[in-house]
Amino acid sequence: MAKKQFKTESKRVLELMINSIYTNREIFLRELISNASDAIDKLYFHTLEGGSGLARNDFEILLAADKENRTLTVSDNGCGMTRDDLEKNLGTIAKSGTLDFKSENADKLDELEVIGQFGVGFYAGFMVANKLSVLSRAYGSDEAYLWESDGVDGYTVSPAVRDSYGTDVTLTLKADAEDENYSELLDQYKLASLVKKYSDYIRYPIKTMREKRRPKEDAENEYESYFELDTLNSMTPIWKKGKNEITEEEYKGFYQDKFYDYAEPLRTVHYNTEGLVSYTALLFIPAKAPYNFYTKEFSRGLQLYSNGVLIMESCSDLLPDYFGFVRGLIDSPDVSLNISREVLQQDRQLKTIAKSVEKKIKSELLKLLSEDREKYKEFYKEFGLPLKYGVYQDFGANKDNLKDIIMFDSLNTGSLVTLSDYAASMPEAQTHIYYASGETAAKIAQLPQTEILREKGYDILCLTADVDEFVIKILDEFEGKKFMSASSDDLGLVSDEEKQETEKQSDEHKDMLELMRDSLGISAVKISSRLKSSPVCLTAEGDLSLEMEKVLSAMPGSGGVTAKRVLELNAAHPLFATLCALYENDRDKLKKYASLLYTQAALIEGLDAGDLVRFSNDVCELMV
Ligand code: ADP
Ligand code: MG
Repeated sequence: MAKKQFKTESKRVLELMINSIYTNREIFLRELISNASDAIDKLYFHTLEGGSGLARNDFEILLAADKENRTLTVSDNGCGMTRDDLEKNLGTIAKSGTLDFKSENADKLDELEVIGQFGVGFYAGFMVANKLSVLSRAYGSDEAYLWESDGVDGYTVSPAVRDSYGTDVTLTLKADAEDENYSELLDQYKLASLVKKYSDYIRYPIKTMREKRRPKEDAENEYESYFELDTLNSMTPIWKKGKNEITEEEYKGFYQDKFYDYAEPLRTVHYNTEGLVSYTALLFIPAKAPYNFYTKEFSRGLQLYSNGVLIMESCSDLLPDYFGFVRGLIDSPDVSLNISREVLQQDRQLKTIAKSVEKKIKSELLKLLSEDREKYKEFYKEFGLPLKYGVYQDFGANKDNLKDIIMFDSLNTGSLVTLSDYAASMPEAQTHIYYASGETAAKIAQLPQTEILREKGYDILCLTADVDEFVIKILDEFEGKKFMSASSDDLGLVSDEEKQETEKQSDEHKDMLELMRDSLGISAVKISSRLKSSPVCLTAEGDLSLEMEKVLSAMPGSGGVTAKRVLELNAAHPLFATLCALYENDRDKLKKYASLLYTQAALIEGLDAGDLVRFSNDVCELMV
């Protein structure tokens, strides 16, 4: 019989698929099962109209592996195909779709990746088989036909026999190669696991004959094997059930099974939306960050289903980086696994879903924050860091979205507060939101430059993470209140009188201050207007704070950025009088004292304090 040629575009796709190194060959089964399910749907709806008496549970999909002949058959009792259907449907791949996409976007996207994601339908069989046979009999017809093809060469269609309506798609598997094991597709466990992974929520039972063992009836300790038809899929996806039909236990079990977590999720979010795109989402906020969360290995993303069929294991486009901790899935009938759809349109739908998912996560976090503060703090301790990075990323593009859900340790409450908590607790006279950087809140509490703020009862946000200060810089203000570092030159807290007094003293001691400055080799030595009980403190002038210096100089290749250091002296402290006396009598000793004070101040700030051996020698010298 003469072979018919595939339509040209089909040929090209076939070549593309067969000859490319395909990483995800196993999706062929998902495609064939989806086709079987579609065929059953068609018949089921057709018979609903016609009243043929067929019921939903009359339908099934069968998988049969034949190891001897190396064949795998997917059978269904769906609508089947006429001779014409076979020609039309299997002789050509739907016209639009991949090929157009490929030629239009060849430079932008990896075509294979796209095929991998959106499915290639029936032809995917050629990734694992060198021959495909389709035996089909259309519902309501007495004639059956056999369509056969061994790849790009073309196909034949011939009359055949089939007992009843439906279709058998038989793959003759390729021979195993060095790095490809096709035989495993005949293994009952492998098949069961593929069905579980990709087709668990197909509405009709997917059955296969499985070999099992049982004790022999009349003999003790002896077993016999027998075969039984097993259903491999669980059919109803939990997320398709109504919320009130699902128990907490079920949600929990599903989450733990699916996302390999021992812990219960901190929060479960399950909802449907209809509108621009319709989808169901089942999302979980884990209680604990997975061990690899902060590494590159962690794969951020949600599972993407189309009508219960898994399209992507981890679709990262569905989650922004800063919500990368969310696990879960999206099921949308609007996202098709059919490549004949416009892929760019897919893209737009994904984007719409992603936007809506993001909004939902944000509103859930706000809800948690207002309903259960302690739980939110637990969450924040695990996943606060990505939120803060989110504020800072992309030059602050998302800061408005995130500013309400980030937290900082506060000095007054000794606990995590949001920016609106802080703003709400501000005394009337307070105009700025103050912050100070340090390793821990306890260390920040000891910083001399926070004294004046604490005395006034103003709270201070403790910036303890590297990213914090960058976050503050990018936010710049919250509800109209500017952020201000506790170490800034001018905290705006000093009265004009006090200022004049400080200026007067500065003039008076100008020479001494300059001498100290030059001997220390720093930006300035100043009379402080902020210190209350401590003798000195170290601050920075200009944009680069001491804390940023620490962060930046820890980065490789930073080339040792340094802040402009300023040593502030408390003129009201008895030590100041000592310094003045030394300036008159013993300038060498003054320099030594200056160096001691500077080193101390640097140590308190947790900064590189220079030569500590010299420091300790100098201290000893003073003691003897
Ligand atoms: P798609 O499913 O995206 O339309 P496929 O390449 O998977 O594309 O299948 C092509 C067509 O072949 C289907 O649209 C359907 O009409 C037909 N077909 C495939 N498998 C079956 C089947 N098991 N029963 C009936 N028709 C089928
Ligand atoms: Mg299909």
